[in-house]
Amino acid sequence: MTAQPRFRRVTRFGPVQVGTYYDGRGREKHTAACTAPRCGFSADYDSRSAAELAARTHRCPVR
Ligand SMILES: [Zn+2]
Repeated sequence: MTAQPRFRRVTRFGPVQVGTYYDGRGREKHTAACTAPRCGFSADYDSRSAAELAARTHRCPVR
């Protein structure tokens, strides 16, 4: 795990959070991260729509 970035505009899709943050060079990055215990899904995307799509279509491997 890297240091937690400063998220802006956090949205939830079910258990998955989509957050936007700026990387060290001021570029927008978008992360989709599942908050379900023992899931651990987390991925970075270059666009908000891609991150939201991933969040919406995410299926937890654990239920
Ligand atoms: Zn999940």
